[in-house]
Amino acid sequence: MEITDVRTASIRGNFEWVLVRVYSDEGLIGLGECYWGAGVETVVRRMKRLLVGEDPQNIDWLYQKMVRGMSGAGSTGGTVMAAISGIELALWDLKGKALGTPIYNLLGGRYRERIQVYADCGHAEGPTPQAWAERAGQVVAQGFSALKFDIDCISPEQFGERDHVGAGRRGWVSGQQRPLAAAEMDLMVSLAGAVRDAVGPDVELALDCHWRYNPRDAITLAKELAPLRPKWLEDPTPPDNIEALKRVTDSSPVPICSGENHYTRHGFRTMITTQAVDIVQPDIPKAGGLLESKKIADLADLYYIPLAAHNVCSAIGTIAACHACAGMRNFTVLEFHAMDVPWWDDLVTADGPLIRDGYITLPDGPGLGCDLNEDVARAHLGEGATFFE
Ligand code: MG
Repeated sequence: MEITDVRTASIRGNFEWVLVRVYSDEGLIGLGECYWGAGVETVVRRMKRLLVGEDPQNIDWLYQKMVRGMSGAGSTGGTVMAAISGIELALWDLKGKALGTPIYNLLGGRYRERIQVYADCGHAEGPTPQAWAERAGQVVAQGFSALKFDIDCISPEQFGERDHVGAGRRGWVSGQQRPLAAAEMDLMVSLAGAVRDAVGPDVELALDCHWRYNPRDAITLAKELAPLRPKWLEDPTPPDNIEALKRVTDSSPVPICSGENHYTRHGFRTMITTQAVDIVQPDIPKAGGLLESKKIADLADLYYIPLAAHNVCSAIGTIAACHACAGMRNFTVLEFHAMDVPWWDDLVTADGPLIRDGYITLPDGPGLGCDLNEDVARAHLGEGATFFE
């Protein structure tokens, strides 16, 4: 079997969902998805010259060929690694279809048949305990037993300025890093407390800081939040300095989770080997794909560090991630970030809702075990986007 073409389509969801198809001379087509990012489709198309004519089943070797082929163009991370990841996902779908088996069977088999997902609740409707409690109650009523809220971006000058549009938030994009005021911290505790009161002690509650704080403030915040027993505090400090993150982790009574800004096993190595996190959080269609994420999971497992996968993908990338998560011994939970996209699972051909009672049951058909619903995809194409042309 030989690869004959690589094409993309961009779907307008709550993020830009960049789908990838890898075509073969036997008529089989593999489907994947890249983490969004400026120019990612252009990078996928540039990668085509490295892939056409190759056997799509040699996935690990093709991954290395793409990394080496784009060396010097930023293949250690960013848009290039996101593009490589999306192609890698499509290669697994293609190989699974060729062999007539689900992807998880090709990645070592599965530890679990269902993948728990947590619902990302964002900032709710505003920084009030009532709004957060209402949002949490609605989500739990849908069957989720794990939630996450964005506890950052509630400083007084940002009240009413929740311009979360993917490019960042005011204040945050200004590049300022300022101390966390006592009033802000009190508000954070009251918001998280309102959620805990609304959902009870058994629902898991993660809190995301989006890299905003200095280590001392993060440690103080963790201590203030600890009585609420959060599942984790995410990205308390900027992603660049692992030693600063480790300082927080070593002193925090709440588990510290990070990793969505890191790429490949090399990018995660120091974070894991110095035990700078309690929970490691790669984004699978961004950090290198299914096999690279399995390698990151195995490295973390050497230190008994669990893995909670970051995820903002469409149902395509999410199901691909589920196949990888199924085979990770130390997997805990996968993110679901599309609570407000009612057609999220209409994008795939599957019977009934994809998420039931907070879990995704692994499809057991060949490859991903599902296909793209082209009518739904075409109805939500991004502005000026082409559809696998
Ligand atoms: Mg996050």
